[in-house]
Formats: sequence, C-alpha cells, structure tokens
Amino acid sequence: MSESKSSKQGFSTRAIHHAYDAYAGYGSLNPPVYMSSTYTFPTIADGAARFAGEQAGYVYSRVGNPTTVLLEERLANLEGGEAALVTASGQGATTSLLWTLLQPGDEIIADKTLYGCTYAYFHKGLEKFGVKVRHADLTDTAVIEQMISPATRMIFFESPANPNMRLVDIAAVSAIARKHNIWTVIDNTYCTPYLQRPIELGADFVIHSATKYLGGHGDLLAGAIVGPKAILDEVRGVGIKDLTGAVLSSQDAFLVLRGLKTLSLRMQRHSASAQTLAESLEAHPKVAVVHYPGLKSFRQYKLAQRQMALPGGMIAFELKAGMDAGIRFMDQLKLFTRAVSLGDAESLAQHPASMTHAVYSPEERAAHGISDGLIRLSVGLEDVEDLLGDLDQALMSA
Ligand SMILES: *Cc1c(COP(=O)(O)O)cnc(C)c1O
Repeated sequence: MSESKSSKQGFSTRAIHHAYDAYAGYGSLNPPVYMSSTYTFPTIADGAARFAGEQAGYVYSRVGNPTTVLLEERLANLEGGEAALVTASGQGATTSLLWTLLQPGDEIIADKTLYGCTYAYFHKGLEKFGVKVRHADLTDTAVIEQMISPATRMIFFESPANPNMRLVDIAAVSAIARKHNIWTVIDNTYCTPYLQRPIELGADFVIHSATKYLGGHGDLLAGAIVGPKAILDEVRGVGIKDLTGAVLSSQDAFLVLRGLKTLSLRMQRHSASAQTLAESLEAHPKVAVVHYPGLKSFRQYKLAQRQMALPGGMIAFELKAGMDAGIRFMDQLKLFTRAVSLGDAESLAQHPASMTHAVYSPEERAAHGISDGLIRLSVGLEDVEDLLGDLDQALMSA
C-alpha cells in the first residue's frame, strides 16, 4: 500500500492495513511473525555493506525485525509522526529515549503528576547520572517560561496524567518549548492516537505503554516512541542497541498489531461506558469528587473538548468518607477486578497511593496532587449495566 493512498484513508482503515500488503507474500491475511534473532548474509561483502548501512536489510533483531518494523510503520502513521520505534515496555520506551537524548548537566522540566515508574526513573535513574529533574504544574503554562534555563533540554508530561486526570495544553506547552529549542515529550498512553495526536499539536515525541490500550487485552508488555526519524535512528542504534536492550519480541509485536485492528471500536466503547459511569458516580451521595474529562464539572472540560476526540476510559474519584471507605469499596467490587494496569477488556480498579504511586513518599504525593483517597478505574468493555450495578453495590457497603 503506497503512502499517498494510505494517508487519505481513515484511522480505522489504516489501523488495520497500513504498511502491509498481503499480496506481496504468500497471500497471508495476517503478517508473518519473524521468529529470528539473526539474519544471514550471502557473502562477507554483503554483511559489511549491511553493517555500514549501505545495503538495506536486517542484521540482528536487537536493531530490527520485519514484524516489529511493520508495527513501527503503522504506529508512526496513526500518530502522524515521521517514524516510530517499538520497545519491550513503556518503561523501555521512556528510558531508551531519555538516555539517548540527555547528557550529564542537562535539565528537564516534568509535570508534577507522572506515572509512578516514570517518576522513579527520573529520580533514581536520571538524577544519579547527573540530569536534573525539575517538576512544575504544567497546567499553568506561565510557570514554564520562568523555569527554562540554558541547561533545559526537554519538557516531559502526560495528558491526562496518571492517576488524577489533570490535562496539559499540548499545543501551548509545545509552542513554548519550540521557541526555546527544547524537546517536548508526551506520554500518550491514556489516549492512544485515536483520541489525541500530540505531534499534530506540535509535540516532538510521543511515548506509549502499548501494554495498555494499543495491545488492549492485558496479555503482553510493549512500548513505543514516535518522533523524528533521524533521532529515532540514534535511539535504535545507541539507546536500544547499546544502552537499554529493551527490544520488543516479534510475537508481542504481532499481538499489538492484532490489538490495533479493533483500537477505534474499543476506544469508542471504553469512552461511552466511562462517561455513563462517571455521570452515575458524580450523582452518588457518597462520592466527593469525580475527575473525568467528559464531565461538564471537570476543571479542564474546555481543554478536553479541544484536545481529545473522546474523553477516554479512565476515571479517578474520591469518596466523601475518605481512604478507609475507598478501600472497603474496592474490596467489595465483584466485576471490577483489583489490579494495576489499564486499557484491557476487563474493568480494573486500583488505589494509586498503595499501588502504582507508592514509590512517591506521602509528602511527595501530597505535593504532586495524588490524594491518598483517590481511586482509579479503568473502564473495560463489559456491558455498562453490569458495571453500573457493580459500582452501586460496592458503594452501598462502602
Ligand atoms: C503503564 C504505564 C507506563 C509504563 O509502561 P509499561 O509498559 O508498564 O512499562 C508508562 N506510562 C503510563 C501512563 C502508563 O500507564
């Protein structure tokens, strides 16, 4: 399928077809899974030419495999980026990109709310190697200009942020970063390119935990980086090859490709059900506050309308009776499963303060806007009436 033909097609069509031509091989409807660690050279001269980058072709699967490359081409297309690089996990995507881009003495500005392991990597990994991480409330774009110093190389954030759903204005932050010649990196895991395409809004790099919605079935770990080709070539040739080794297996790349075929349908259903549940929770007398971008009461509702095609499948909320009631509520759930992760067919509930964000100290959680009573729901694909029923019965006993 040619680029020009592909680029005119709709999102769902590209999620199913982009960059794969069944007629070019054996007519196999699905792409082959290349289970090979290494690749053969007809002659030593061919091998030398391939190593020198003068001859197209594969060398070793740590730097590329035809199945993972197909997934990369498809993800780059869906995100509207120049190129993509897939990794063994979302964490592998973040670390491979940042270890490649940053040097000792550099500074980065990160939003104050981040996925727990990203926060841990920044403070236990980057700082140990001489990169300074400064946190800001990026919902307030005015503070960014004041924090930028000659050493600042990058602004890093999530939108919506895990776990409390704060949004960052991607176009506004990217514009400030561009003016100062600083990279903008956004973790787009919560949205997927079906709901939000940061590169079209001016961001330089998108990171994904493909473990979540892109894979969509809770059966793999995978990550991805989308961005400029020249830099991703360096991340592939140095960041992944030499520094992290966070290589995605062809088997898991195949499963992500399979997940992408239903991405648009799944995101529509996740969003519609989450909207129904968020409205019901908001109306419940035991609920203190619901953070969901599809609610009119959401503090950044206007930004959500502008930046996201749909409000997504993630909800954060708090009970009036606080943390103990929240834990009773979660232990009462029968259909929602108590588990971390998100974006699966199964609805999941977790408690960030004791689970995903336990790496923050209580003081850090307070400073970073993650209250101890916060409950995070990943709304799955079950019938919404059953999900409503489960929340209702658990709230009754909370
Ligand atoms: C899960 C997650 C990650 C880490 O991804 P893994 O695939 O688990 O390594 C990073 N960012 C966000 C927002 C996540 O939810």
